[in-house]
Amino acid sequence: MPHTIDIEAICAERGLRITEQRRVIAKVLSDSTDHPDVEKVHERVAEIDPRISIATVYRTVRLFEEAGILDRHDFGNGRARYEATPEAHHDHLIDVETGKVVEFVDPELEALQKEIAQRLGFRLVDHRMELYGVRLERD
Ligand SMILES: [Zn+2]
Repeated sequence: MPHTIDIEAICAERGLRITEQRRVIAKVLSDSTDHPDVEKVHERVAEIDPRISIATVYRTVRLFEEAGILDRHDFGNGRARYEATPEAHHDHLIDVETGKVVEFVDPELEALQKEIAQRLGFRLVDHRMELYGVRLERD
């Protein structure tokens, strides 16, 4: 989503110790809107501080994930991709050719999912909706 989330501020709120390297990684994740994988995060981090290793990025991302600051996604190619846990729910459409992710919210779809859960005897507390597609030719 266009609204960026301040991961560093959330870390502070939750009492997570923020080191200089974690700060750089948090900033890159906060600024990313494309659901990057760890390698992509490391690429961006290395532009700011080349001393930060991919192992550190892995560890930090896992730490943020465990703290509920990051959401991990598996968009089908076996590579975990991350985004700052959004304040408002959204779903994802993944371009299978490019890996590009489009975010969307559809109130009818949200309502339908609640209805289905209810029909099956549940109160819906969460869901994940991932659509996979190829872009239509447009002229
Ligand atoms: Zn997203």
